[in-house]
Amino acid sequence: MEFAERVAEEARPLRRDRIDTLQINVGKLCNQACVHCHVDAGPRRTEIMPADVAERILDWLARSNVPTVDITGGAPELTPCFRRLVERASELGRAVIVRHNFTVQHVAGQEDLPEFFRDHRVRLIGSLPCYLEANVDRQRGKGVYAGSIAGLRRLNAVGYGRPESELTLDLVYTPLGPSLPPPQGSLRDDYAAYLSEHYGIVFNDLLTITNVPINRFRHQLQREGKLEDYYQLLEASFNPSTVGRLMCRTQLSVDWTGLVYDCDFNQMLDWHIGNGRAYRLWERPLEAWLGAIQTGRHCYACTAGCGSSCRGALA
Ligand code: SF4
Ligand code: SF4
Repeated sequence: MEFAERVAEEARPLRRDRIDTLQINVGKLCNQACVHCHVDAGPRRTEIMPADVAERILDWLARSNVPTVDITGGAPELTPCFRRLVERASELGRAVIVRHNFTVQHVAGQEDLPEFFRDHRVRLIGSLPCYLEANVDRQRGKGVYAGSIAGLRRLNAVGYGRPESELTLDLVYTPLGPSLPPPQGSLRDDYAAYLSEHYGIVFNDLLTITNVPINRFRHQLQREGKLEDYYQLLEASFNPSTVGRLMCRTQLSVDWTGLVYDCDFNQMLDWHIGNGRAYRLWERPLEAWLGAIQTGRHCYACTAGCGSSCRGALA
């Protein structure tokens, strides 16, 4: 059954009625090239947000009342306009989230990132798809686990993730293959125990995110002949209680050129909003970005099991 029909059965039409979060994807450049990446990001990608696009987005933000800005990529820190986005959004009084891969702290010129994040009260959400080294290196590349542990230690050292601190550090779990994440709460306890015992690392929450079968992860499943089975797992695991909390109901996604989408996944499919016309964010007021949401078969990843969003499980 089409996702839109399945959602309609729950008598909750899927539309965006407000915008709590503007998610800005500044481009596809990344220091890693993870096998499951839905962005197809990597070190050789050249798509990065120009400074004038960043300024127009910031002007639009200043005219709006969107309370949260969520900056992602690629590794967003590698895009030259990244720090300007954080500084200005922070000046405007908006909560700022950065999707951080911990190894980017080791790239030349990025060594001061922990202090930069701390000084701007950035909430960090960072991927660590397992607490065991072999699994992380298999998904994200050799040496990524060791680099991530070193990065996490530096963040703890400036105050991130500590119980007495307001600096929030959340980790992200994504399954290594075509399966659903386990329950978020019990997995968090396992992560906390292992990372504390072996490395003295602390963090706040663990967010579980289901892999969406687009781009690199989709190609991997196709090569292994597992794509259809994965779709069927997602569809069979449809959980009606997730529908009311889908992130596209309250979020807007903008790409490195300023085009606008319902979410980062639709962005990667080039499903921009605009009824056939390609509007940039700043060409329309906030109210014009409310309304219907474009859906496809990939959307079943957001409603399977405990549900999934950029902020973790939904149910
Ligand atoms: S998953 Fe994240 S860290 Fe890995 S290649 Fe994609 S953007 Fe980079
Ligand atoms: S993939 Fe995007 S549009 Fe589809 S349900 Fe998830 S958040 Fe909404």
